[in-house]
Amino acid sequence: MNPAKRSARDQSSQGAVPEAGGEGSRTGTTSDAPSQQPPTVKPLQTPPPMKSLFEAAPVTRVEESLEQIQADLGDCQRCKLAPTRKTIVFGSGNPKAPLMFVGEAPGADEDEQGLPFVGRAGQLLTKIIEAINLKREDVYICNVIKCRPPENRTPERDEIEACSPFLLRQIQAVQPKVIVCLGAPAMQTLMKIKVGITQIRGQWYEYEGIKLMATFHPAYCLRWPDKKREVWEDMKKVRDYLRFTGVLT
Ligand code: SF4
Repeated sequence: MNPAKRSARDQSSQGAVPEAGGEGSRTGTTSDAPSQQPPTVKPLQTPPPMKSLFEAAPVTRVEESLEQIQADLGDCQRCKLAPTRKTIVFGSGNPKAPLMFVGEAPGADEDEQGLPFVGRAGQLLTKIIEAINLKREDVYICNVIKCRPPENRTPERDEIEACSPFLLRQIQAVQPKVIVCLGAPAMQTLMKIKVGITQIRGQWYEYEGIKLMATFHPAYCLRWPDKKREVWEDMKKVRDYLRFTGVLT
Protein backbone atom coordinates (compact mmCIF):
# COMPACT_ATOMS: atom_id res chain seq x y z
CA MET A 1 0.00 0.00 0.00
CA ASN A 2 1.10 3.52 -0.58
CA PRO A 3 -0.02 5.41 2.49
CA ALA A 4 -0.99 8.98 2.13
CA LYS A 5 -2.05 11.90 4.22
CA ARG A 6 -3.95 14.79 2.63
CA SER A 7 -4.76 13.78 -0.82
CA ALA A 8 -3.05 10.58 -1.29
CA ARG A 9 -3.59 7.01 -1.87
CA ASP A 10 -2.75 4.09 0.31
CA GLN A 11 -2.40 0.68 -1.07
CA SER A 12 -1.73 -2.61 0.53
CA SER A 13 -2.31 -6.23 0.20
CA GLN A 14 -5.69 -5.80 1.69
CA GLY A 15 -6.68 -2.18 1.82
CA ALA A 16 -5.95 1.09 0.22
CA VAL A 17 -6.15 4.66 1.33
CA PRO A 18 -7.25 6.50 -1.75
CA GLU A 19 -6.81 10.13 -2.45
CA ALA A 20 -8.51 12.48 -0.11
CA GLY A 21 -11.01 14.91 -1.50
CA GLY A 22 -8.84 17.68 -1.55
CA GLU A 23 -7.39 18.00 4.95
CA GLY A 24 -9.44 30.96 35.94
CA SER A 25 -10.01 30.57 37.65
CA ARG A 26 -13.19 31.78 39.27
CA THR A 27 -13.07 35.32 40.36
CA GLY A 28 -15.68 34.83 42.99
CA THR A 29 -14.64 36.53 46.14
CA THR A 30 -14.45 34.84 49.48
CA SER A 31 -15.96 36.29 52.57
CA ASP A 32 -13.60 38.80 54.14
CA ALA A 33 -15.56 39.40 57.30
CA PRO A 34 -13.03 40.32 60.00
CA SER A 35 -12.63 37.88 62.82
CA GLN A 36 -11.69 38.65 66.37
CA GLN A 37 -8.38 36.96 66.01
CA PRO A 38 -6.46 36.51 62.81
CA PRO A 39 -6.16 32.89 61.80
CA THR A 40 -2.88 31.25 62.38
CA VAL A 41 -1.18 30.50 59.13
CA LYS A 42 1.48 27.88 59.37
CA PRO A 43 3.85 27.90 56.44
CA LEU A 44 4.99 24.64 55.02
CA GLN A 45 8.46 23.63 56.06
CA THR A 46 9.32 22.85 52.47
CA PRO A 47 7.23 24.49 49.79
CA PRO A 48 6.25 22.07 47.07
CA PRO A 49 8.28 22.65 43.93
CA MET A 50 6.48 24.21 41.02
CA LYS A 51 6.69 21.90 38.04
CA SER A 52 5.79 22.47 34.49
CA LEU A 53 3.30 20.20 32.84
CA PHE A 54 6.12 18.37 31.17
CA GLU A 55 7.78 17.53 34.47
CA ALA A 56 4.69 16.93 36.52
CA ALA A 57 3.48 13.51 37.49
CA PRO A 58 0.56 12.12 35.48
CA VAL A 59 -2.77 13.48 36.52
CA THR A 60 -4.54 11.57 39.23
CA ARG A 61 -6.66 8.78 37.86
CA VAL A 62 -10.25 9.73 38.31
CA GLU A 63 -13.16 7.93 36.71
CA GLU A 64 -14.90 10.54 34.62
CA SER A 65 -16.74 10.58 31.34
CA LEU A 66 -15.91 12.55 28.23
CA GLU A 67 -19.08 14.54 28.85
CA GLN A 68 -17.84 15.54 32.28
CA ILE A 69 -14.47 16.56 30.88
CA GLN A 70 -16.08 18.60 28.12
CA ALA A 71 -18.36 20.26 30.64
CA ASP A 72 -15.32 21.16 32.73
CA LEU A 73 -13.64 22.61 29.64
CA GLY A 74 -16.73 24.72 29.10
CA ASP A 75 -16.31 27.97 27.22
CA CYS A 76 -12.62 27.77 27.92
CA GLN A 77 -10.61 30.94 28.27
CA ARG A 78 -7.53 29.29 29.75
CA CYS A 79 -5.10 30.41 27.05
CA LYS A 80 -4.60 33.13 24.49
CA LEU A 81 -6.22 31.14 21.69
CA ALA A 82 -9.69 31.68 23.08
CA PRO A 83 -10.35 35.14 21.56
CA THR A 84 -9.58 34.05 17.98
CA ARG A 85 -11.31 30.68 17.84
CA LYS A 86 -14.79 30.15 16.50
CA THR A 87 -15.40 26.77 18.05
CA ILE A 88 -13.77 24.57 20.65
CA VAL A 89 -12.96 21.26 18.97
CA PHE A 90 -13.12 18.82 21.85
CA GLY A 91 -12.99 15.48 20.05
CA SER A 92 -15.31 12.91 18.54
CA GLY A 93 -15.85 9.22 18.13
CA ASN A 94 -16.33 6.09 20.17
CA PRO A 95 -16.01 6.99 23.87
CA LYS A 96 -14.56 3.52 24.51
CA ALA A 97 -12.55 3.23 21.33
CA PRO A 98 -9.73 0.70 21.16
CA LEU A 99 -7.82 3.11 18.92
CA MET A 100 -7.35 6.81 19.59
CA PHE A 101 -5.77 9.35 17.25
CA VAL A 102 -4.24 12.50 18.66
CA GLY A 103 -3.44 15.35 16.31
CA GLU A 104 -1.98 18.75 16.89
CA ALA A 105 -4.67 21.41 16.69
CA PRO A 106 -7.84 22.26 14.77
CA GLY A 107 -7.57 23.90 11.38
CA ALA A 108 -9.98 26.20 9.61
CA ASP A 109 -12.55 23.53 8.71
CA GLU A 110 -12.48 22.08 12.21
CA ASP A 111 -12.83 25.55 13.72
CA GLU A 112 -15.92 26.08 11.60
CA GLN A 113 -17.56 22.73 12.30
CA GLY A 114 -16.39 22.02 15.82
CA LEU A 115 -15.21 18.55 14.84
CA PRO A 116 -11.67 17.20 14.53
CA PHE A 117 -10.13 16.21 11.22
CA VAL A 118 -12.93 17.19 8.86
CA GLY A 119 -10.83 18.96 6.22
CA ARG A 120 -8.66 17.39 3.55
CA ALA A 121 -6.34 15.92 6.15
CA GLY A 122 -9.38 14.51 7.88
CA GLN A 123 -10.56 12.87 4.70
CA LEU A 124 -7.21 11.19 4.40
CA LEU A 125 -7.30 10.10 8.04
CA THR A 126 -10.69 8.52 7.42
CA LYS A 127 -9.20 6.52 4.56
CA ILE A 128 -6.28 5.43 6.72
CA ILE A 129 -8.71 4.23 9.38
CA GLU A 130 -10.74 2.35 6.81
CA ALA A 131 -7.58 0.79 5.40
CA ILE A 132 -7.13 -1.13 8.66
CA ASN A 133 -10.73 -2.31 8.54
CA LEU A 134 -12.14 0.13 11.04
CA LYS A 135 -14.70 2.87 10.61
CA ARG A 136 -14.25 6.40 11.74
CA GLU A 137 -16.97 5.96 14.33
CA ASP A 138 -15.03 3.04 15.81
CA VAL A 139 -12.12 5.24 16.88
CA TYR A 140 -11.75 8.38 18.97
CA ILE A 141 -10.10 11.45 17.45
CA CYS A 142 -8.93 14.62 19.16
CA ASN A 143 -6.06 17.08 19.29
CA VAL A 144 -3.53 18.26 21.83
CA ILE A 145 -5.12 21.68 21.87
CA LYS A 146 -8.76 22.38 21.26
CA CYS A 147 -8.70 25.79 19.58
CA ARG A 148 -7.28 26.78 16.22
CA PRO A 149 -4.04 28.76 16.39
CA PRO A 150 -4.02 31.84 14.15
CA GLU A 151 -2.88 31.03 10.62
CA ASN A 152 -2.58 27.40 11.70
CA ARG A 153 0.74 28.10 13.38
CA THR A 154 2.30 25.50 15.63
CA PRO A 155 0.84 25.55 19.14
CA GLU A 156 3.04 27.35 21.64
CA ARG A 157 4.24 25.85 24.87
CA ASP A 158 1.95 27.86 27.13
CA GLU A 159 -1.03 26.84 25.02
CA ILE A 160 -0.09 23.18 25.23
CA GLU A 161 0.43 23.47 28.97
CA ALA A 162 -2.99 25.02 29.39
CA CYS A 163 -4.88 22.61 27.17
CA SER A 164 -3.14 19.25 27.28
CA PRO A 165 -4.46 18.28 30.73
CA PHE A 166 -7.81 17.84 29.00
CA LEU A 167 -6.21 15.50 26.48
CA LEU A 168 -4.74 13.42 29.29
CA ARG A 169 -8.17 13.20 30.88
CA GLN A 170 -9.71 12.19 27.55
CA ILE A 171 -7.20 9.36 27.29
CA GLN A 172 -8.04 8.23 30.81
CA ALA A 173 -11.73 8.29 29.99
CA VAL A 174 -11.44 6.39 26.71
CA GLN A 175 -8.70 3.99 27.83
CA PRO A 176 -7.78 2.90 24.31
CA LYS A 177 -5.53 -0.05 23.60
CA VAL A 178 -3.49 2.03 21.16
CA ILE A 179 -2.82 5.74 20.78
CA VAL A 180 -1.58 6.99 17.42
CA CYS A 181 0.08 10.37 17.61
CA LEU A 182 -0.28 12.25 14.36
CA GLY A 183 2.80 14.43 14.20
CA ALA A 184 5.49 15.45 16.62
CA PRO A 185 3.53 17.79 18.94
CA ALA A 186 1.22 15.00 20.04
CA MET A 187 4.10 12.62 20.60
CA GLN A 188 6.18 15.22 22.41
CA THR A 189 3.28 16.15 24.65
CA LEU A 190 2.49 12.60 25.72
CA MET A 191 6.02 11.22 25.84
CA LYS A 192 7.68 14.39 27.15
CA ILE A 193 10.47 14.04 24.66
CA LYS A 194 11.74 16.61 22.23
CA VAL A 195 12.67 14.70 19.12
CA GLY A 196 11.63 14.86 15.51
CA ILE A 197 8.86 12.69 14.18
CA THR A 198 11.21 10.98 11.73
CA GLN A 199 13.30 9.69 14.63
CA ILE A 200 10.45 8.11 16.52
CA ARG A 201 7.77 7.17 14.02
CA GLY A 202 7.01 3.54 13.51
CA GLN A 203 8.25 2.43 16.93
CA TRP A 204 6.19 1.27 19.85
CA TYR A 205 6.19 3.38 22.98
CA GLU A 206 4.01 3.23 26.02
CA TYR A 207 1.93 5.91 27.70
CA GLU A 208 0.38 5.02 31.05
CA GLY A 209 0.27 1.37 30.07
CA ILE A 210 -1.20 2.12 26.63
CA LYS A 211 0.65 1.26 23.43
CA LEU A 212 1.63 4.40 21.58
CA MET A 213 2.76 4.84 17.99
CA ALA A 214 3.74 8.07 16.27
CA THR A 215 3.44 8.66 12.58
CA PHE A 216 3.27 11.56 10.18
CA HIS A 217 0.32 13.92 10.35
CA PRO A 218 -2.11 13.53 7.41
CA ALA A 219 -1.56 17.17 6.51
CA TYR A 220 2.15 16.48 6.17
CA CYS A 221 1.40 13.59 3.84
CA LEU A 222 -0.71 15.85 1.70
CA ARG A 223 2.32 18.06 1.23
CA TRP A 224 4.76 15.15 0.85
CA PRO A 225 2.83 12.26 -0.71
CA ASP A 226 5.81 9.91 -0.57
CA LYS A 227 5.40 9.88 3.23
CA LYS A 228 2.17 7.98 2.85
CA ARG A 229 4.11 4.77 2.44
CA GLU A 230 5.71 5.22 5.85
CA VAL A 231 2.35 6.00 7.44
CA TRP A 232 0.98 2.81 6.03
CA GLU A 233 3.92 0.83 7.39
CA ASP A 234 3.21 2.32 10.82
CA MET A 235 -0.50 1.66 10.57
CA LYS A 236 0.09 -1.95 9.64
CA LYS A 237 1.87 -2.35 12.97
CA VAL A 238 -1.14 -0.82 14.69
CA ARG A 239 -3.47 -3.12 12.76
CA ASP A 240 -1.40 -6.16 13.68
CA TYR A 241 -1.40 -5.23 17.37
CA LEU A 242 -5.16 -4.74 17.33
CA ARG A 243 -5.47 -8.16 15.74
CA PHE A 244 -3.23 -9.58 18.45
CA THR A 245 -5.48 -8.13 21.12
CA GLY A 246 -8.59 -9.43 19.40
CA VAL A 247 -9.98 -6.04 18.47
CA LEU A 248 -9.55 -6.82 14.79
CA THR A 249 -9.96 -10.18 13.15
S1 SF4 B 1 -6.71 25.92 23.36
FE1 SF4 B 1 -7.47 24.75 25.11
S2 SF4 B 1 -6.79 25.92 26.92
FE2 SF4 B 1 -6.68 27.31 25.15
S3 SF4 B 1 -8.66 28.37 25.14
FE3 SF4 B 1 -8.82 26.58 23.76
S4 SF4 B 1 -9.70 24.96 25.02
FE4 SF4 B 1 -8.90 26.55 26.42
